[in-house]
Amino acid sequence: MEEKMISFIHKTFPLPKIESSKNVLCVLPHPDDGEIGAGGTIAKLKSKGVKVSYVLITDGSAGIRGKSREETKRIRKKEQELAAKILGVDEIKWLDYPDGGIYNIEDVKKDLAKHFETVKPDLVITVDPFLPYECHPDHRMCGLAVAQTLLLNFDASIPIAFFFTAYPNQFVCIERYWDKKFEAISAHKSQISSEVIGIYKEYFEVKGETYGKKVGCKYAEGFKVLLPSMLHAFEEALWI
Ligand SMILES: [Zn+2]
Repeated sequence: MEEKMISFIHKTFPLPKIESSKNVLCVLPHPDDGEIGAGGTIAKLKSKGVKVSYVLITDGSAGIRGKSREETKRIRKKEQELAAKILGVDEIKWLDYPDGGIYNIEDVKKDLAKHFETVKPDLVITVDPFLPYECHPDHRMCGLAVAQTLLLNFDASIPIAFFFTAYPNQFVCIERYWDKKFEAISAHKSQISSEVIGIYKEYFEVKGETYGKKVGCKYAEGFKVLLPSMLHAFEEALWI
């Protein structure tokens, strides 16, 4: 994409800053996604007095091998509640769709529209459904349901910050919240053993440092921030 076009778009449609938000709604496919993808940013927003709420699309019931769905759901909800508490999240709502199960995006969109109406967020954080090679149906459905609800039901002015993205265009310095992020990730004990947390740390350290360099700090998290109106017939969305 031509540089001239990109700078024209940046000038004409300035993208809001995640850190200027006052009321953030995180829409998450499973327990643990919020902490892994955006835990440092959520902790930072909370430390600045921003209201942060979670909506969990699925119940996490497919996440533990050898345990029943009911038991898994109970364990994972407790873990999610603890992790959210560590970050300082104000409230969690569960939509309770079956983890990895069969459900309809139109039902999810209806539920989300109600939450958007009640919470009135000035920013929605969710997973990027356009991540190449992402094939988990819950993740694709979650990101797409958020994007379509904001595009079609509202005035399309509420920005979306996608995490787990291959095309980040905004970086949030989280060096002071790095330990908090991993404390929150560690609350998901059924998903992340102490060996796995070590590997996660190494992986996210390299990624966090790479993103950190872009904003002159030790560690950062990356997001693709777009206005919903940019998610329709807008060829430049990938490049801005
Ligand atoms: Zn997930």
